Amino acid sequence: MEQDERDLRQAIIDQCKFMNACGLNQGTSGNISARYKDRMLITPSATPYDKLTPEMIASMPFDGEYGHWEGPLKPSTEWRFHFDILKNRTDMGAVVHAHPAYCTAIAITRREIPACHYMIAAFGGTNVRCAPFARYGTPELSTLAIEALDGRTACLLANHGSIAMGEDLDKAMWRAVELEAIAKQYYLALTLGDVVLLTDAEIAETMKGFSSYGVQDDYKDVAAGTARETA
Ligand code: 13P
Ligand code: ZN
Repeated sequence: MEQDERDLRQAIIDQCKFMNACGLNQGTSGNISARYKDRMLITPSATPYDKLTPEMIASMPFDGEYGHWEGPLKPSTEWRFHFDILKNRTDMGAVVHAHPAYCTAIAITRREIPACHYMIAAFGGTNVRCAPFARYGTPELSTLAIEALDGRTACLLANHGSIAMGEDLDKAMWRAVELEAIAKQYYLALTLGDVVLLTDAEIAETMKGFSSYGVQDDYKDVAAGTARETA
């Protein structure tokens, strides 16, 4: 295995451990995928994250038979929506699915998250939709998720959890964390009542800044001591 593929597999594992450690997810719920060349790398099904090694990450070619996988453990039961998202959204490199408490609570009430905070713009529009319910792991769930994700980088899944995507793993996890934060803020505001939402014009104004906002990559150069000099 090439070193860069091994590094990406390890980064998937690190993000799995992070999402449980920070309280975004629990147990073996959730799953993470990332694009590597012409394949999708994805966590194996129901395997404790602290036991994962890079070899255990499943590999699924985008151009092979639908559902074909390689690896010692079967891929996540949710491989379909990961695969369908990454195959269709060629601008995206990673997908994080989790069962976060506040996202899931809102999805249990079958609500979308409206423009309650300017950070809604980080997900591509004025709302984050909630896909209708379908059983976990089914083609129906993938179809419903893809519809809910139209023009967006995240969605809720009714009575289930959340999906967030990103140009790379860091950005996908950044959105997953921000989505849970906004879900919590919306939940708390609903308990107070008198929720005031932002207008489409206010979100459109926010979106202008968001083309250049988001988790930055520059820190990696600074950390590695290869940052360019600035005056
Ligand atoms: P896996 O353990 O198969 O990845 O499934 C977890 C999950 O979140 C199903 O929706
Ligand atoms: Zn799930």
